[in-house]
Amino acid sequence: MKYTVVLNGCSRNIYSQAEETASFVAENLGSAPPGRCILFYSDAQNKEELIALSPAESLLLVKVKQRDPEYYLSLLTGLLQNDTSSLYLFPGDLCGSELAIRLAHRLGGSSLAAVEKIEEDGEELHCYKTVYSGYLRAQLSLRQKPYCLSIARGGDTRRCRKAVKVLKFEELDATGFEKGSPLGEPEYEEEANGGLELEEAPFILVAGQGVNSREKITRLKEIAAEMGATFGVSRPVAMSAWAPLHSLIGVSGVITRPQLCIAVGISGAAAFFAGIEKSKYIVAVNIDELAPLVQSADVVVIDDYEAVLEELCRLIKEQPSLP
Ligand SMILES: Cc1cc2nc3c(=O)[nH]c(=O)nc-3n(C[C@H](O)[C@H](O)[C@H](O)COP(=O)(O)OP(=O)(O)OC[C@H]3O[C@@H](n4cnc5c(N)ncnc54)[C@H](O)[C@@H]3O)c2cc1C
Repeated sequence: MKYTVVLNGCSRNIYSQAEETASFVAENLGSAPPGRCILFYSDAQNKEELIALSPAESLLLVKVKQRDPEYYLSLLTGLLQNDTSSLYLFPGDLCGSELAIRLAHRLGGSSLAAVEKIEEDGEELHCYKTVYSGYLRAQLSLRQKPYCLSIARGGDTRRCRKAVKVLKFEELDATGFEKGSPLGEPEYEEEANGGLELEEAPFILVAGQGVNSREKITRLKEIAAEMGATFGVSRPVAMSAWAPLHSLIGVSGVITRPQLCIAVGISGAAAFFAGIEKSKYIVAVNIDELAPLVQSADVVVIDDYEAVLEELCRLIKEQPSLP
């Protein structure tokens, strides 16, 4: 099976990414023809070190100026136009999983995140992964090529790796590349979170399924930026691609610990609540007074979120010392 590995050299986790990917390749694709690696990097990085990380004999180093998944996706769809790989492998961080899922959509293939092992039988790709918080192991079979997978994090890297000698090496300077690709426009705008990561943000605004549309999510993102909050979402919002996966809060995403968390249109399921329970203050805006989050929040507003948030934003902007 012809495969391509995509690594993000700009990530702080590039070394563990490369190790886990190399281990996965060695375990699962040892008998496949030599693969190809596409590695994004920025000016600040040591090229020699990055070349040594390649898990494939053929390496394309792509110099980039931006580091968001949207930009990588646009770039990849352009780069892969004439590529005939059946399998694209991404590391298991949120960016890798987001890219795997969205690239499959653009290429008309199928995708799966956090895969531990694969077996191909010619017709299908059988993928194994841990589900339900580690209680079950699932076998899921993908039929539609190309298969775009992200690799489970924390895999056994002990048997990794015979050093791979890069035999074919190419470089591409994509710093002049602009977003937008022949296969479609970006599905959502770049994050406006003031550069703060959700994990570290002191003030977050989180939107859930009650917000109900991509347009309204976009408006809430703007409100978050106007209030000085970092924007996050619950899983149904991320899964609808109304917001990027890296803004997902909860056990499947980011665990936050802000001073203030305002959650709107969110019921407060346990898997989500784990992502905000370390907040100092939680404000819930919900139309359902029996929603679990309403029971555990410090401040509750039972009302439609829209008018409440617009008014709150106005009040916060009037008092710049808040929050
Ligand atoms: C293994 C596993 C892992 C999971 N991991 C995560 C995770 O990491 N993060 C996550 O979020 N979920 C996760 N989930 C899903 C989780 O169980 C819930 O399904 C999800 O959190 C529900 O999202 P929600 O609250 O946005 O939507 P819903 O549960 O549909 O809640 C929507 C809420 O909006 C309210 N509402 C509707 N209209 C309005 C309005 N106009 N104004 C105000 N409020 C309104 C409703 O009353 C309701 O309470 C996971 C599930 C599983 C099985």
